[in-house]
Amino acid sequence: MNVVYTDNNATTKVADEVIEEMLPYFGELYGNPSSMHTFGDTVNKKIKQARARVADLINADPEEIIFTSCGTESDNTAIDSAIKAYPNKKHIITSNVEHPGIKNFYQHLQKDKGYEVTFIRVDTKGLLDLDLLYKSMSDDTAIISLMWANNETGVLFPIEEIAKKAQEKNILFHTDAVQATGKVEIDVKKTGVDMLSLSGHKIHAPKGVGVLYVKKGVKFSPFLIGGHQENGRRGGTENSVSIIGLGKACELAKENLPIMNTIVRELRDYLQNQLLEKIPSSSVNGDLEQRLPNTVSIGFDAVEGESILLMLDREGICASSGSACTSGSLEPSHVLMAMKIPFKSAHGSIRFSLSHYNTKQEMDHIVSAMVPTIQKLRDMSPFWKDGKVV
Ligand code: PLP
Repeated sequence: MNVVYTDNNATTKVADEVIEEMLPYFGELYGNPSSMHTFGDTVNKKIKQARARVADLINADPEEIIFTSCGTESDNTAIDSAIKAYPNKKHIITSNVEHPGIKNFYQHLQKDKGYEVTFIRVDTKGLLDLDLLYKSMSDDTAIISLMWANNETGVLFPIEEIAKKAQEKNILFHTDAVQATGKVEIDVKKTGVDMLSLSGHKIHAPKGVGVLYVKKGVKFSPFLIGGHQENGRRGGTENSVSIIGLGKACELAKENLPIMNTIVRELRDYLQNQLLEKIPSSSVNGDLEQRLPNTVSIGFDAVEGESILLMLDREGICASSGSACTSGSLEPSHVLMAMKIPFKSAHGSIRFSLSHYNTKQEMDHIVSAMVPTIQKLRDMSPFWKDGKVV
């Protein structure tokens, strides 16, 4: 069966060009980049090229790029570094829709380390309460950390505007750009963020490699204390093969950005409009404008997201639900709950996240599978009677 893959916010296919770039370094070019010999230095030179390619994607300087093992490590490192740099400041600001990789770290800091964490609320469209954010900034705030784009809804936060306010108040600002990378333009110089996280496996590089950008001059303290790698900012022998792949993926992401914002956006809009038109009692979760070009989350009233996913799976379609079932709960996700999406719709929410590998035929296949799937599930649902929600 052909797989229709529309779960690109979960992970992406490693691009063929990326595999090709990595292959020699899996095989004959296995040297340690820190070694003194030419054999190791060949790998070191290739890592240098990868660093320059990553920097180029986000308009950073290569020395501002630290390679890590994933987005989660980058996020944790940024927060940990800020609280070590400002030990007397005991307040952190974030939002209540962050990724669990960072949200759970805040809960640990709150519960076990005595930090006061302000979780800024979002409205029903997933947009941040900026007034509350600005009012919450204080001399005691060690760091503000906010995602650039939400992984479930694709909703974008106004990072440039927030970075300016943080700068005025002299507060460190970190953004989790794991979902934004390769989908919207990122220019760290123009935006003025102090730290930024990104992750390889969301942009057609392998899993297990990430980046933390740290602006020149920002006080930094390593999370992994070890060897001299990454200029003493992240110990441990480099995951050279994946770093080399990530470099290539960043080069491709830059080339593909216009495609993401034209062809992929049009495909996403086509899928969204077809589903809304053909399936009654369905609605988009999140703001329609301030949104990633590849993501749509739609709530289908009176059905269960997990059942939809299972039925789509039989048709070879990969998507994702808005529930946190992977954590052992069938509650709607914390993001949809924070947006106060009504339970009957949040419970039946499905996220489709596209890439430039998707086609219009695939979108048509999804629509033709979704229409009978929702009908069948509604026929069995106690919340659906005579063509409407009860
Ligand atoms: N931040 C966001 C917004 C994400 O979507 C993810 C992964 O889904 C992460 C962080 C974590 O990245 P990684 O899987 O590389 O640890």
